[in-house]
Amino acid sequence: MNILIFGPNGSGKGTQGALVKEKYKLDHIESGAIFRKHIGGGTELGKKAKEYIDRGELVPDDVTIAMVRDRLQQPDTKNGALLDGFPRTPAQAEALGEMLSQLGAEVNGVPLISVPDEELVNRLSGRWTCRARGHVFHEKFNPPQKPGVCDFDQSELYQRDDDRAETVRTRISVYWNQTAPLIDYYRKCGKLVEIDGNQPIECVTRDLLAALQSE
Ligand code: AMP
Repeated sequence: MNILIFGPNGSGKGTQGALVKEKYKLDHIESGAIFRKHIGGGTELGKKAKEYIDRGELVPDDVTIAMVRDRLQQPDTKNGALLDGFPRTPAQAEALGEMLSQLGAEVNGVPLISVPDEELVNRLSGRWTCRARGHVFHEKFNPPQKPGVCDFDQSELYQRDDDRAETVRTRISVYWNQTAPLIDYYRKCGKLVEIDGNQPIECVTRDLLAALQSE
């Protein structure tokens, strides 16, 4: 089963994706997290991606597609993958279809988590991320038990550079201009299921799992 979890930055894709991945034993492929790992490790790819990421823009398709292709070919994807943050452009969606068909697979479901833009700005600008494994907290809506410390692995929480309010607005407009056309693409394929992301985390999870069960 290959699930593509879809929605703007801050819609809760990462939090929900982690739960879905556990339940279905899928490999979680999060393009933004792979880029951040490359940036942290100082690789060539990381250096190339950083300038785009810091501006809140998309990393060019050729770089992103090559990175995900490489990841999808690793053996831990054999039960299927939960893709989060990829594809984000029509060219990436086409490339994904080809990559999966070469592996004898396809996209099985595309849950879209919808949240109004103003709510996204509130969420992203109060977001704190764990340095060790990327667990996400929010100072108001999902605070850690101890400020600045991850509940799961006790590592330091930090605010991502691209979670600053000005960059957040650029990322939201990039989503509407470049990524939202994919909603229609997957709706036409009959794969899209819309989920209301503007409700408590556990209600979004309930709706998401119900939607995937009917796939
Ligand atoms: P995210 O963690 O999903 O919010 O991604 C952080 C940043 O990484 C994005 O704002 C983009 O600059 C870059 N990025 C992540 N995934 C992609 C993608 N599929 N295509 C292009 N850029 C991406």
